[in-house]
Amino acid sequence: MGTLAGKTALVTGASRGIGRAIARTLAAEGALVALHYAANDHAAQETLDLIDQDGGQAFLIRAELGIPGDIHTLYTQLEDELTQRTTSRHLDILVNNAAVSGSARIHEVTPDLFDRLFTVNTRSLLFLIQRALNTLRDGGRIINISSAATRIAYPESLVYAMTKGALNTLTLALAKELAPRGITVNAVAPGFVETDMNAHKRADPQAAAHLAAWSAFNRIGHPDDIADIVAFLASDASRWITGQYLDASGGTRL
Ligand code: NAP
Repeated sequence: MGTLAGKTALVTGASRGIGRAIARTLAAEGALVALHYAANDHAAQETLDLIDQDGGQAFLIRAELGIPGDIHTLYTQLEDELTQRTTSRHLDILVNNAAVSGSARIHEVTPDLFDRLFTVNTRSLLFLIQRALNTLRDGGRIINISSAATRIAYPESLVYAMTKGALNTLTLALAKELAPRGITVNAVAPGFVETDMNAHKRADPQAAAHLAAWSAFNRIGHPDDIADIVAFLASDASRWITGQYLDASGGTRL
């Protein structure tokens, strides 16, 4: 029996990258996992197939975040699927992983970029949590995927880093608010991780070596490095940790 047997989890942005690894790890620990994504049906199906092959249980939810009605679209699918599969619409674990990035220094920031990043990374996330609180069980878990760009100055992606700073603040305040229900709320902050989000930066071997050198271990992170930390936070073993910012950057810029 895995550490999450009998639990239900929603992982946003689970079709690719870190979200896929988190979903696979939670499913391997026994959770029934809702795999949320925006539009990439092929990648989402691949995640589902991988979980099936591993003997896990999961289902897909397609809902683009950052457009009108997004949370309603996502949550009605989630509740329908959970009710069919478990006879209850209750959720135990919410992993807020989906996000968009955007490289822009202060002089390159536009109102459109600002609005897009804050809408997807911060606004949608807050309203998803608000909706989820109706069905999140007491003793549940909220895990927000932040970024080491909130600890280390990263002016190359100013607004992106700002959205993650807002997420850290949300994490702290909600941890206090939800503690009476035994719900823990934590943020996990990766450094550079091998995903589509930064594939363009890793394309050149010299640039990839430069990114690797940010970590004390001199390598770029792997999605599983993050997924294992999230699985711990999702488990009962982490029950005494809440309101925390967990650096998951392989000792980046120590
Ligand atoms: P990724 O490879 O770009 O994957 C993004 C995922 O989010 C996909 O599943 C995508 O769905 C979904 N998504 C994107 N925009 C969406 C939208 N508007 N509505 C709904 N879903 C959306 O990302 P990643 O690199 O794994 O990053 C995952 C998390 O880690 C993010 O919060 C990111 O900020 C954080 N992070 C990443 C790094 C890094 O180096 N990669 C570093 C620090 C923090 P589709 O497949 O359908 O497009």
